[in-house]
Amino acid sequence: MDSAESRLKSLAVHLGADLVGITNRDLLSDGPPSADPRYLMPSANSIISFAISLDKEIVQDFISKKKWRPHCENRKAIAQKLYTIGDKLVEQLRSEGYQAVNVDLNNSYRPEKAAADVTEMTDFHPDFSHRYAALAAGIGRLGWSGNLLTKEHGALVELGSVLTSAHLKPDAPIPDKDHPCDRCKMCSLVCPVEMIRPKASSQITVAGVTETISRKRPNTCCWISCTGYEGLATSSTWSNWSPYRLGHPLPENKEELNALCTSLQKADPQMQDVNNSFSNYREAIFDPEWFYYTVCGFCRSVCSPSREDRRANRKLIINSGTAALKFDGSHKVADEDTVEMPTPFGLRVVAGLDDLTGSKAKARKWPGQFPLDRAVIKYLYKLINSAEAKGCADD
Ligand code: SF4
Ligand code: SF4
Repeated sequence: MDSAESRLKSLAVHLGADLVGITNRDLLSDGPPSADPRYLMPSANSIISFAISLDKEIVQDFISKKKWRPHCENRKAIAQKLYTIGDKLVEQLRSEGYQAVNVDLNNSYRPEKAAADVTEMTDFHPDFSHRYAALAAGIGRLGWSGNLLTKEHGALVELGSVLTSAHLKPDAPIPDKDHPCDRCKMCSLVCPVEMIRPKASSQITVAGVTETISRKRPNTCCWISCTGYEGLATSSTWSNWSPYRLGHPLPENKEELNALCTSLQKADPQMQDVNNSFSNYREAIFDPEWFYYTVCGFCRSVCSPSREDRRANRKLIINSGTAALKFDGSHKVADEDTVEMPTPFGLRVVAGLDDLTGSKAKARKWPGQFPLDRAVIKYLYKLINSAEAKGCADD
């Protein structure tokens, strides 16, 4: 008869997981606080960790700026599948008399003393770390970027975890000799805001495994770029998919960086909406109208299993140009018809001049328009219309 472990793993694979592993609370006890499953479930004994790989061709189109939307949609579809796998595992475990919890996939952070809400957070420690569980469960190891790297798909995976009171036999972590990260440092080279330092390192131990990873800049540095408040690389020759520009380098000083992140978030229309994806990520993922606004993640997207592919991916990124906002809410590669303009949100925006002039200057709606983009388009639309009205009055 099949063991409980193999039945649960088969169920996850049957539902679409590419990789599945099991670890337990004791093994995770040497890890950072977010490796402790008891924070979410005091009776947790074991953790089932599972991963689904991203579509590689779609990722290539994303990093080369050929196509933006398919990668956002691929991420959303995978998140739906991960939630579904977790729900079915929970259902199965509960039917066998165990307690079980499907861990939220994202945007659920442990409270921070000085932060009233997510806009004031600076550490962003998750309730439970999917990465640490996946490392301990033998799915992958932490690369220089700090992302989870698998032998099969590199860092191009999304992760889910189920906590349970059942005592399951754990898998072994991947041994050092099979570590998938070869220190190519392509992840450092494709981060627009130089979050991932190429030389300075730090160490982290989880499940008896010690990883040496980059000593990254403060989390708010990534937050600023990954949310889309700054897309331009320090070289100014390429960007991620964000059309927004701060107009100055990010502060080196941690307190200044944190203060900047908070002020940008406070001004962001997304954060004024009580029903944003930070209040209920699962609901957003299953909302057919919600658009998974992804502008970065380049440190992960560059990281294919083969070094040759990683080098090629880096070239795609640094030759991909810079992003601009279209008036319908979509993004495109900036060209000679794009201009950079100030906005009331503490950011400058690169927008399509051809979209902004004459009869084209209408607030058209692209399906899934993002709140910040929507507010900026509205602002630019008003600006142009009032300029045109003034022009008419002057005539
Ligand atoms: S890009 Fe290279 S250095 Fe960075 S995590 Fe991947 S394999 Fe490691
Ligand atoms: S997600 Fe983007 S901004 Fe954040 S560390 Fe990765 S490359 Fe840098």
